[in-house]
Amino acid sequence: MGRVVFIGAGPGAADLITLRGAARLAEAEVVLADALADPALRAMAPNARWIDVGKRGFCDATAQTTIDALLVKLARRHALVVRLKGGDPSVFGRLEEELAALAAAGIASEVVPGVTAALAAAAETQRPLTRRGRGRSVSLATAMTADAGLQAGGRGRADTEVFYMAGRQLGALGRRLQQAGWPADTPVSVVSRAGCVDALASDHRLAGLAEAALLHAGRPAVVVVGVGATTVPGASPVRHETDMAQVQAPVPGA
Ligand code: SAH
Repeated sequence: MGRVVFIGAGPGAADLITLRGAARLAEAEVVLADALADPALRAMAPNARWIDVGKRGFCDATAQTTIDALLVKLARRHALVVRLKGGDPSVFGRLEEELAALAAAGIASEVVPGVTAALAAAAETQRPLTRRGRGRSVSLATAMTADAGLQAGGRGRADTEVFYMAGRQLGALGRRLQQAGWPADTPVSVVSRAGCVDALASDHRLAGLAEAALLHAGRPAVVVVGVGATTVPGASPVRHETDMAQVQAPVPGA
């Protein structure tokens, strides 16, 4: 009977995995990986059989129960099974179900944290999520519920709210947040593929959030609302190799 190590791969770029995560990957016999993981991570697991269980949004996802059962099956046959997840396993990573399945089967597990998308976005844009005196609380929220409905919290919950999985409903999210009491001119920063060479960031007001949809279409994105979306005067984020100006947003109706 083996054990399962859940590893947060970080937001995409392979070099954002932790040293501990890389060390466990190197020892892995089998890796069950999310679709978001950088292919370069494969080189870190030279001895492993690599199984992609494409979990990304609501398309091509291997059913959660299938993944739970596969983890149990593999752990019974291999000494070290790695479950590689995008970002951090504890943030919108369905970790609860997988831990429970292993516990029910009496299989030992370990969790190695990773850089979650909200933190990668803050680093990408050089916009700290907390600010002295003004930004004392941060929430990590999903814009989607299990039944695919939109969720947006009430004003006053947190000074900065970071929404995951909002990509397809940015306009609706903006409207919901305004209905919940956030002012129409609240600053919003949308960051897609944060931490990757092709990261993109754009600035909006809540009332105009729908504008971000085309620019970030088809890319994993987080939406930062409130104090944490404001710039630090003089900060000049390095844009990796890709410059915003080189990326053409599709023209509506074209
Ligand atoms: N466990 C992951 C989140 C999985 S849910 C984490 O901790 O980051 C998938 C959502 O994460 C996407 O819909 C998107 O909102 C966000 N996401 C993942 N990678 C991202 C990235 N590189 N840049 C921006 N958002 C990202």
